[in-house]
Amino acid sequence: MSDVRIDDLPVRDELRGKTPYGAPQLDVPVRLNTNENPYPLPEPLVDRIAERVREAARHLNRYPDRDAVELRTRLAGYLTDTSGHPVGPAEVWAANGSNEVIQQLLQTFGGPGRTAIGFEPSYSMHALIARGTGTGWISGPRGEDFSIDLEAAEKAIAENRPDVVFITTPNNPTGNAVPPQTVLALYEAAQAAKPSIVVVDEAYVEFSHGDSLLPLLRGRPHLVISRTMSKAFGAAGLRLGYLAAHPAVVDAVQLVRLPYHLSAVTQATALAALEHTDTLLGYVEQLKAERDRLVGELRAIGYEVTPSDANFVQFGRFGDAHEAWQRILDRGVLVRDNGVPGWLRVTAGTPEENDAFLDAVRELKKEQNA
Ligand SMILES: *Cc1c(COP(=O)(O)O)cnc(C)c1O
Repeated sequence: MSDVRIDDLPVRDELRGKTPYGAPQLDVPVRLNTNENPYPLPEPLVDRIAERVREAARHLNRYPDRDAVELRTRLAGYLTDTSGHPVGPAEVWAANGSNEVIQQLLQTFGGPGRTAIGFEPSYSMHALIARGTGTGWISGPRGEDFSIDLEAAEKAIAENRPDVVFITTPNNPTGNAVPPQTVLALYEAAQAAKPSIVVVDEAYVEFSHGDSLLPLLRGRPHLVISRTMSKAFGAAGLRLGYLAAHPAVVDAVQLVRLPYHLSAVTQATALAALEHTDTLLGYVEQLKAERDRLVGELRAIGYEVTPSDANFVQFGRFGDAHEAWQRILDRGVLVRDNGVPGWLRVTAGTPEENDAFLDAVRELKKEQNA
């Protein structure tokens, strides 16, 4: 065992005393805590991945396509088909998860002496990646109902003049979507304060009742839409995220990306998955129905629920959310305590998993009422 700890090392000041990101990965029967898709990839897709990876393996002596042109072309096709907004490969960039996309954006447009703002509670990785890239972080406000209060948000932007603005819609961990008019108003406010980049994180948009904001890209060169294959595509283990933006933004992030960052195996696997979008989006429809069922049943049991456009539901309220989390875990169901006081988050799983969750919270409610 070593007696040297992190803080004994000459680490950067902003990393001292910090803990790494991590949802508990506990071995319990029902795990509904990380917004993964509960359905394994369909067998025909698994076969297709094996085929494409086998072909890629024949060329692993060479570096992969540095610009991932075929993959970006297919991603552009997927975005075009699902949004009706024409997107070309020059407007798409891909990396190892949307977390890497966000890291590249902050390396390009943030960094020392610059700041980024997000409206919290929201995706905690935005703040953590800001810290990792030396970008100052500003915690912008949300209202009591977790919507973005436009006036307060505009004021925060005008006062802080951030270089990067994050808008997560549908938002994680609260689940609610941000109305397109609000996104537009925040884009305008950000541009009025200083020429800044506005990143719309659409990790969950396939689960939304509404549409993607991709059409807003037209005429807005400082707008970036970030997406991922981790949620709707059921491929969290693949690590593939991507963005759509003006081609100049795509050119700019290439200034910071590591050469050959996207392995040939990753590119081959993602290409196989993109051949099966119909099947994968079929699962999304099932999960949306289960999400809506969770919302209805939780309300019927007597919980408060934040309206959800994602594959998870935020429910409460609890006097002590962490204690409630533990009691649900004692019944074999792992949900997420994101640290939002009074609230917990549950991912929509298979119907059986959701039934197990609903049984657990029904019992919890009875105990609380007793
Ligand atoms: C899960 C999630 C992501 C996905 O990150 P990947 O690196 O693509 O797995 C991005 N943004 C938000 C808001 C998320 O919840």
